[in-house]
Amino acid sequence: MAKKEFQAESKRLLDLMINSIYTHKEIFLRELISNASDAIDKLAYRALTDDKVGIERDQFAITLSVDKDRRTLTVSDNGIGMDEAEMEQNLGTIAKSGSLQFKQELGDQPDVDIIGQFGVGFYSAFMVADHVSVISRKYGAETANIWQSDGADGYEINPCQRDAAGTDIVLHLKEDQEDERFSDYLEEYQLRHLVRKYSDYIRYPIQMEVTRSRQVPDPEDAEKTVSEQYTEMETLNSMVPLWQRPKSEVTQEEYDRFYQDKFFDFEPPVATLHFSVEGNVSFNALLYIPAKAPYDYYTKDYQGGLQLYSSGVMIMEHCDDLLPDYFRFVRGIVDTQDLNLNISREMLQHTRSLKLIATNLQKRIRSELLKLMENDREKYEKFWSAFGLQLKYGVAGDFGANKETLKDLLLFWSAKEENLVSLKQYLEAMGQEQTYIYYASGENRSRLAQLPQCQLVREKGYDILLLTDEVDEFVVQILMNYQEKAFRSVTAEDLGLSTEEEQKALEDAAEKYKPVLEFVKSRLGERVKDVRLGQNLRDQAVSIVPDGSLSFEMEKYFARVQPENAPKAGRILELNPNHPVFNALQVAMTQDPDKAIKFVELLYNQALLIADLPLEDPTVYADLVCSLMV
Ligand code: ADP
Repeated sequence: MAKKEFQAESKRLLDLMINSIYTHKEIFLRELISNASDAIDKLAYRALTDDKVGIERDQFAITLSVDKDRRTLTVSDNGIGMDEAEMEQNLGTIAKSGSLQFKQELGDQPDVDIIGQFGVGFYSAFMVADHVSVISRKYGAETANIWQSDGADGYEINPCQRDAAGTDIVLHLKEDQEDERFSDYLEEYQLRHLVRKYSDYIRYPIQMEVTRSRQVPDPEDAEKTVSEQYTEMETLNSMVPLWQRPKSEVTQEEYDRFYQDKFFDFEPPVATLHFSVEGNVSFNALLYIPAKAPYDYYTKDYQGGLQLYSSGVMIMEHCDDLLPDYFRFVRGIVDTQDLNLNISREMLQHTRSLKLIATNLQKRIRSELLKLMENDREKYEKFWSAFGLQLKYGVAGDFGANKETLKDLLLFWSAKEENLVSLKQYLEAMGQEQTYIYYASGENRSRLAQLPQCQLVREKGYDILLLTDEVDEFVVQILMNYQEKAFRSVTAEDLGLSTEEEQKALEDAAEKYKPVLEFVKSRLGERVKDVRLGQNLRDQAVSIVPDGSLSFEMEKYFARVQPENAPKAGRILELNPNHPVFNALQVAMTQDPDKAIKFVELLYNQALLIADLPLEDPTVYADLVCSLMV
């Protein structure tokens, strides 16, 4: 085959690798070994159901071999292999989200230090090699192919020979430089060291032919011995997967590295859960709570789920049924022997064992998050900024079925603390006499805090939760109350703030000003549901508030998601009888009715503006203002 160019994106990543000044180039070995292990996983899984594979579990292996004369290091596996199309697809383009994400996050200013922090894959070979050949034969195929590349120039694929299924990655190491000894990767001690350091947990033996010496009788003098060299295959790794090792023997650094490598993250997780359960169902779990949402997290492209292993064989890469949707950000591994592998994947999700595991995991994740919130608030808030929205959707979704599980994990912005608080904290800070948990919702926190109703509540010394996410109000409505304290919007007519006398005074005032209220109402007609005196307006002349539980924010939301039959919130205009404008209106009603009519329009439009609602006709409003000015 003629030489082909790499796809543009691949080429960029490749250039980055070739010219890398990254100091830990040694991680290329970890990447190649991890690919080899994945390839064996695939064939091992196949072998569970397909007798024809004909390889026993203990025959799977990864082999390292060196040829010092040729300056090559070869990583071989007897895994699933690749055919020509797969080579083209997998090695010529960046298909994998991990690499793609890598590239995206790198932006235009690549920071080479990032390289070591998570899997950069096959291309990392070009950090140490100036020529790479991949010889591969796909399981079930009769022929093999060789893929070859010097990096930047492109690659070619040609037919070749290989005895059995599997892959050899042959690296021709770069020439040594003053400060960089690539030939170290040909040394037994160095390879042994790197395998221990990075790939010890790989569940298949990583083997290398090593030279040893022993004492044998001297053929010339039976009294003496001489030293003789011989070679033997040595397994370099301990093969115990991380999650099967005792917790006390694993360092956080190892946990983090494993996570970043396996789940392609730059950042270490905010929490790691490692535990095993014995009982009705026995399993090992290693779970991670990421610090940051993957770029595609809130899209349908995101693939969540945990990796499911059975007796050391990965049987599913993304098992969704192990996690409830609201915890789908959790990454990790579950290993159990209690699943019957002969059943189909579709049936698997209905098995009792799987459900038992899922329930157990859900409880542990919840309590881990609570613990984090209590003990390491900074980390929790980091987590919250990544996945808080997910938890809120969890509360609001499924008709509130999960609200009890999730309500204690929620954080809201407190107007008083100017910080995030949990509902528990809100309650703890509030006095006996406070009846409600107050909230205000809108798009902008500082604007909300300026609302007269908010200022009134704050003057009483009460805190208000300022809600700015679209889903927030749904959350509040689904929750209804927290520890028997009801949520109350600051736009509600009764904020529970006034005394009986104040109530009485208001009723009297309403009676007294009835003609004004009726005049305004008759002018506005269908546009409002009611006109009343506002008790919470302080020095604001008018306000428009929703009638009932559908707020203006929710109305806007529905208008966007289901425009054809969006519900509308009833509008109530509130007038402040203590504002001089109210008096002006009253005077105009008797002395200059035309002007009074204009005043009503003016007040109504102002109220819409303050509530962040669209004016019916901005031009008419502008003309009106002008006509009153001259
Ligand atoms: P990643 O491992 O993140 O998918 P890589 O660039 O390391 O990205 O590898 C790309 C793809 O090439 C792998 O997903 C896999 O399909 C294929 N591949 C790499 N190495 C091997 C191998 N030793 N055997 C079979 N397939 C492999």
